[in-house]
Amino acid sequence: MSNLFDAFRLIERGERIALVLQGGTEISYAGLANAAARIARRLNEIGVEPGDRVVVQVEKSHVALALFLACLQRGAVFVPLNTGYTLQEVRYFIGDAQPKLVVCDPGRFEEINTAASCDATVLALDAEGSGSLTERLSTPTFDVVARGPDDLAAILYTSGTTGTPKGAMLSHANLGSNARALKDYWRFTQDDVLLHALPIYHAHGLFVACNVLLLAGGRMIFLPRFDVEKVFDSLAKATTMMGIPTFYTRMLADERLTPELVCHMRLFTSGSAPLLAETHAAWQRRSGHSILERYGMTETGMITSNPYDGDRIAGTVGMALPGTEVRVVDQEARRELPRSEIGMIEVRGENVFKGYWRLPEKTATEFSPDGFFVTGDLGTIDDRGYVRIVGRGKDLIISGGLNVYPKEVESEIDALDGVNESAVFGVPHRDFGEAVTAVIVTEKGFCMSEAEMLKALAGRLAKFKLPKHIFVVSELPRNAMGKVQKAELRQQYRDIHS
Ligand code: AMP
Repeated sequence: MSNLFDAFRLIERGERIALVLQGGTEISYAGLANAAARIARRLNEIGVEPGDRVVVQVEKSHVALALFLACLQRGAVFVPLNTGYTLQEVRYFIGDAQPKLVVCDPGRFEEINTAASCDATVLALDAEGSGSLTERLSTPTFDVVARGPDDLAAILYTSGTTGTPKGAMLSHANLGSNARALKDYWRFTQDDVLLHALPIYHAHGLFVACNVLLLAGGRMIFLPRFDVEKVFDSLAKATTMMGIPTFYTRMLADERLTPELVCHMRLFTSGSAPLLAETHAAWQRRSGHSILERYGMTETGMITSNPYDGDRIAGTVGMALPGTEVRVVDQEARRELPRSEIGMIEVRGENVFKGYWRLPEKTATEFSPDGFFVTGDLGTIDDRGYVRIVGRGKDLIISGGLNVYPKEVESEIDALDGVNESAVFGVPHRDFGEAVTAVIVTEKGFCMSEAEMLKALAGRLAKFKLPKHIFVVSELPRNAMGKVQKAELRQQYRDIHS
C-alpha cells in the first residue's frame, strides 16, 4: 500500500465530476487535483515535511477537502478539529499536536496567531473556500510523497465526552483498507451520487463518505451542513445518502418524504449513534427503503455493517466487515463469550489505528494481549454474526450490585405510547451505589404521570432495572454527530438523591 492519495486517481479521472456544490458549481476530479496541487505547493513553501501535523478548524468547503488531499499528497498528517471547539480547546489541540501549520476560520485568525503555544504558521480559510491559505498561490506541485503502511495520514481527536480528548493516529493503510472494504461491501461505483450533508472534521463525513466516493470515482452533492430543505431539494439527483440517526428523524418529520421521492435511491446508511428500531421501521414504511446501519469508531474506522443483500435487522449493527475480526469478551476472565452473552466488543484488523498520539501507555491499556482493540462498547453477537450494542462500558449502571444496561431500559421506555425517545443513566445513590434514572422526550399532549409510566414498565423490566425517576425534557443533549451526551446528564442530575 502506498499513499492513499494515489488510490483516488484524481488526474486519471479528469473531467468526471467529483463534487457538486450548493448553488450548482461542479468540481471535476482534475479540478480537485489542481486545487490540492496548489495547496501542496503552499505546504512546501511553508516547510511542511512528511510527518508534520497540519491542524485544521474550518467550515466545510471543497477547498477544505482539497486541503485534506494536499496533506495526503505531501505526506503531512491531517488533524481536523470540530468547528464547535472553543478557542481554549483549540489551543489545547495545537499544544498537543505541535503542528507546522494551522488553518483556521478568518474569525479566529488573530487569536490563534497570537496564542502562546502556537509556533506554527497560521493561515485562514473561510466557508466559501477563500482566505490566506489559497491567496497568491504559485505553480502547483503534483508530486506525491511515497508512504509506507505505518505512515500517518491523520490524527483525529476522539469526541472526548469524558476526560481529555486523545489523538487517534490513523495510517494510510488504516484509511485505505477501510475505504476499500466499504466501497465493495456497499457496492459504490463511479455511477453513484452521494448526498453529503455530514461534517468533514469527523471520521464519518471524511473517511467513510469522502474516501469511499473518491475511491469509487463517484460524485458528491456537497452540502455545507444538514439542512432539511436543501436535502429534500437534492435527493432527486442522488443515488445514496450517509446519515446519522438525527437526519432520518428530521426527514421523517417532513411530509415531503414519500416512496416516489426516493424510489430511485440505491442506499441509505446510518451510523455514529444508535438508530432506534422505531425509526428504522418508520423509514421503511414511509420511504420503502431499509436503512443500512453500521458501526464504527474514530480509532477503528468501520467495524460492522448490516448486509447490502440480506436482512438489515433493526437494532443491530450487522456483521464484521471483511478483513475485520470482532469478538465479545468477558474482560475480567479474558475469555471470549458464547453467542448472545453481553460483554466487551473487541476488534482487530488493518483498519485499527496505530495508537494514541504521544500516549504509549494509554494505548497499551486499550489493546488485549493478542492485539485486539478494546472498543469500550458492550454488546452481543448472535448465531448469524449480527452484533448488537447495548451501551458504552462507562455508561453501564451498577445498581445494588446488579448490572443494568441502559439500552434495554430505553427500549422499553421508548415503547410506551407517546414517548419519542429516552436516555437512561446512573446517578449516585446512598443505598444502591447508583440509581437508574431516565429522561424522556414525549409527543405533544402526553399525559402519563411518572407513577403510571413506572407501572407500565413494571411488567416488562425486573425491579432493579426500573428507573427511580423519569423526567420529561424537551430534547436530549446531543453532540454534532447525534450522540446523546450521557456524561452531561449524569452531571445535571447527580444530586437528586443526596
Ligand atoms: P466516534 O469515535 O466519535 O465515531 O464514536 C464511536 C462510538 O459511537 C462507538 O464506540 C459507539 O459507541 C458509537 N456508535 C457508532 N456507530 C454506532 C451505531 N450504529 N450504533 C450505536 N452506537 C454507535
